[in-house]
Amino acid sequence: QAKAGGRRCFRFFDRSMNEHAVRRLELEAQLRQAIDSNQLELHYQPKVLVETGGLAGLEALLRWNHPEQGRIPPMEFIPLAEETGLIIPLSYWVIEEACRKLAKWRKGGADVKVAINLSARQFHDEKLPQRIEAILQRNKVPGSALEIELTEGAVMDDPGRAIVILQRLRALGLRVSVDDFGTGYSSLAYLKRFPINAVKIDRSFVMDLPGDAEDAAIVRAILDLARALNLDVVAEGVETAEQLDFLAQAGCGQVQGYYFSPPRPAAELDAWISKASWAYSPNRP
Ligand code: C2E
Ligand code: MG
Ligand code: MG
Ligand code: MG
Repeated sequence: QAKAGGRRCFRFFDRSMNEHAVRRLELEAQLRQAIDSNQLELHYQPKVLVETGGLAGLEALLRWNHPEQGRIPPMEFIPLAEETGLIIPLSYWVIEEACRKLAKWRKGGADVKVAINLSARQFHDEKLPQRIEAILQRNKVPGSALEIELTEGAVMDDPGRAIVILQRLRALGLRVSVDDFGTGYSSLAYLKRFPINAVKIDRSFVMDLPGDAEDAAIVRAILDLARALNLDVVAEGVETAEQLDFLAQAGCGQVQGYYFSPPRPAAELDAWISKASWAYSPNRP
């Protein structure tokens, strides 16, 4: 009896594994086509200057509008793209598209900056800096208008190579932020070895502010460390006025989150960006 049950279980497990593999294969094939068939889209979320309520920059976040399955979240297709190498063409699409929008927004006179997310895999692509340079030139966008966000993991598997790539990106004028700061396993030593400009406090530390004493202590410690190392700090995932108050009092320079705005399609930002003043009211640009 038990044995038969076990076999059934095993078969069931086997089949669901198969379905998983099939879905992955399908998604992979569809992701290959997504770029050419215009299914990819960038949404933009503002980073806000705490002191003035002004716009520090926008973060570009990739969206895949699948023809049958609707919008597939990046957490589902980015890992797949990384495993299959598709992340490389995908990311060049992201950089090109972000620069096209930058050129358009900046033409209106606004000093807009856009941050793009780079994955670990791209630090194995030695052509990255020269290709970014070509994209900037083609779109007539200064390097100082572009920022990259990378996770600790992205640079830690080959720190030597990552430093070289980052230095070349910095030489183009790009700013560099460490994303999801505090969630990686790496030592803090890289903060002084790597040519970075800013850290982004991970949403998991912001979520339970101001009530959670441990998170409050961690956030204060990150702010102290960043001050000492002369790094800018952006708090991610700010959703409430109470979180914002805590961060403002603790001296956090920039905030980002649903409290101000979710990521939005570029078209929804057009009118707002062309306005002369950037005053923020919660939850809408
Ligand atoms: P991330 O770079 O840390 O981006 C922040 C994520 O938090 C985004 O999720 C954003 O929509 C979400 N978020 C922002 N404010 C709030 C908030 O107040 N509350 C909550 N609950 N969430 C908030 P999204 O867009 O689903 O992206 C997830 C991750 O996918 C990103 O994390 C990034 O690691 C990756 N990703 C997105 N676009 C790209 C891309 O173009 N290239 C690469 N390599 N990775 C990307
Ligand atoms: Mg990011
Ligand atoms: Mg993050
Ligand atoms: Mg994240």
